[in-house]
Amino acid sequence: MCIEQYLVPASVAECLFLLNRFEGQAMLIAGGTDLMPKLAQKKIAPTALIDVTRIEDFCGLTETDTGLMIGAGATHAQVAQDETLAQTWPALTRACASIGSPQIRNVATLTGNIVTAMPGADAAVALVVLDAKVEIASPDGKRSAAVEDLYAGVGQSKIRSSHEIITAIKVPRPRMKHGNAYGRISPRNSFCFPIVNAAAALTCENNKIISARLALGPVADRPFRPQKAEAVLKGAAPDDLKAIDAAAILASQEANPRSSCLRGCADYRRELLKVLVKQVVRDASARLAR
Ligand SMILES: Cc1cc2nc3c(=O)[nH]c(=O)nc-3n(C[C@H](O)[C@H](O)[C@H](O)COP(=O)(O)OP(=O)(O)OC[C@H]3O[C@@H](n4cnc5c(N)ncnc54)[C@H](O)[C@@H]3O)c2cc1C
Repeated sequence: MCIEQYLVPASVAECLFLLNRFEGQAMLIAGGTDLMPKLAQKKIAPTALIDVTRIEDFCGLTETDTGLMIGAGATHAQVAQDETLAQTWPALTRACASIGSPQIRNVATLTGNIVTAMPGADAAVALVVLDAKVEIASPDGKRSAAVEDLYAGVGQSKIRSSHEIITAIKVPRPRMKHGNAYGRISPRNSFCFPIVNAAAALTCENNKIISARLALGPVADRPFRPQKAEAVLKGAAPDDLKAIDAAAILASQEANPRSSCLRGCADYRRELLKVLVKQVVRDASARLAR
């Protein structure tokens, strides 16, 4: 590891100035829970680290009429502990609460969870199902992109953290009757990556599901949307158990889990997916009724 400088900008403008000064040789760091192991394993070798956690207004959670604005420095613990958010976005608060351990959740950010681009990253799976977007600042100006569109492969994000900075994550507020839910299956409840995880978001009108979003991980090279399963739910009544069962089976067929020593064989993981998808869709559906 050969970090020559550790810099702590106080504003986005200063951060961009520093990134530009290092011409791609500096990297942003938030909680460091993904970055530091990569540095130690010499997978990356920036000459400077730019700590984004002290940027003004970077760590807040703000609810507005249109949705939730999550500052790019907000941690999983902040989101997991917010009981108000749990009423509208339980998928997100549950996903954040399932990550690592209290020590990890206290420093690790949702932004880092997105940029690290792991297909089973818990918060990212929930953010994809909730149709979240990120705000990005770069030397070329500001832009917005859907979380779902930021993946270029396993561990490969389209965000270039040596040139640009995510400033916030925006989760839209559901306009109609809506329910969302998140679940994961892992050998232990804490300090353990998921064997599979899943999230569901349903919107309902006149007792019919008019929009169904599902996201699964880690069963592809990114948080995966099983579109055939989503299509089966669309138009069904929220308590149509046959449609929910069919969606769960389709989702497990569409997914492509790998056999791994850590997570078990592909067939086993597909069986788990059937159970988990059924559970999260039923949970989301039950929330519609409230
Ligand atoms: C012991 C352990 C257990 C874990 N368990 C889980 C788990 O159960 N589930 C799970 O999903 N993850 C888990 N993780 C992974 C990790 O904690 C999460 O992915 C975390 O959310 C990463 O956030 P961070 O703030 O630490 O990111 P960092 O490590 O600081 O950064 C990660 C990447 O994001 C970039 N970045 C950070 N902030 C910005 C920004 N504002 N703009 C642009 N780029 C930025 C960095 O440059 C870097 O490339 C675990 C990690 C450890 C070490």
